[in-house]
Amino acid sequence: MLFCTDCQLPARLDDAVKVFRDGTCICLLCHRPQESIQRAWSGAMRRDLAAALAGLSGP
Ligand SMILES: [Zn+2]
Repeated sequence: MLFCTDCQLPARLDDAVKVFRDGTCICLLCHRPQESIQRAWSGAMRRDLAAALAGLSGP
């Protein structure tokens, strides 16, 4: 049995995104928020870029 370093809950090997040598892991539940933050970041950057381009091509 693995234990997630973030939420301290037991996780199966199938649910572990990263497994460390000391028997701990990062589980899927703790890994997903990071992915969603990265997606939000890229979305915000795309919006900023679109706004910048719209400002350049304005009257
Ligand atoms: Zn976790």
